[in-house]
Amino acid sequence: MNIEPKLKFIKSNRNKDQLVVNNKYVYNLYSSDKKGNKSYIYTFYKTINKCKSMSKLNSTNHIVAYNQEHNHIISEKKVQRAKAKSEIKKQIQKLNNPLIFQNLIP
Ligand SMILES: [Zn+2]
Repeated sequence: MNIEPKLKFIKSNRNKDQLVVNNKYVYNLYSSDKKGNKSYIYTFYKTINKCKSMSKLNSTNHIVAYNQEHNHIISEKKVQRAKAKSEIKKQIQKLNNPLIFQNLIP
């Protein structure tokens, strides 16, 4: 298949760079080199399940390597939560007002 996956860049709780592929798979930034090539791995499942899924992006954020092999169930809830948190954080940084945070929590 030659369809390029949909990519979205978010920040983790600890302000680390994460990559969401096709709105489903969340990868943590693992390494980047001087040319701007970046490797993302499925850190959480890597330790527990030894998941081999990873993706590599070049400096223009195009996928140059992608392994979709997952040996576990993907938690969509977890992905949605991660994206929501990242969005809230962005809003807070934009407004720089801690009171907004309380209003966003249901
Ligand atoms: Zn996996």
